[in-house]
Amino acid sequence: MIEVLSADRCISCDICVEVCPTDVFDRVAGSPPVVARMDDCQSCYQCEAYCPAEAIFVAPMRDPVAEGSSWRDEAHLVATGELGSYRVTLGWRRGASQFVRPSSPGTGAGTSGSGDSTTAPTSRSGP
Ligand code: SF4
Ligand code: SF4
Repeated sequence: MIEVLSADRCISCDICVEVCPTDVFDRVAGSPPVVARMDDCQSCYQCEAYCPAEAIFVAPMRDPVAEGSSWRDEAHLVATGELGSYRVTLGWRRGASQFVRPSSPGTGAGTSGSGDSTTAPTSRSGP
């Protein structure tokens, strides 16, 4: 499920609105889109992959993560390099960190240091 759309990073290009196959977002003229229909998210990662600003985080879960999860904490996702990391993992853009997504949230152990930007995530099965 999509968990974070960072207003700080978003450049309001609306690419995520256009690529989402289930119409999760609503456009807002001159502002970041809003996640209007989260329940329709099918965790396909297309929005995270296509976002040029690495402003989106999609958790590898069928349902929303728990309140208070680090996967909803934008500051944590920025600090660990997880925000927008799916795009980096695909090799579409090298991010500031060479992050490999952990198998569960809250570990704070998101950076691999010597990782390869094309390395597949270790797990998408969730916590
Ligand atoms: S993960 Fe897929 S379904 Fe969910 S909001 Fe992003 S593009 Fe839409
Ligand atoms: S694709 Fe990224 S930068 Fe563009 S509107 Fe969506 S969240 Fe913002």
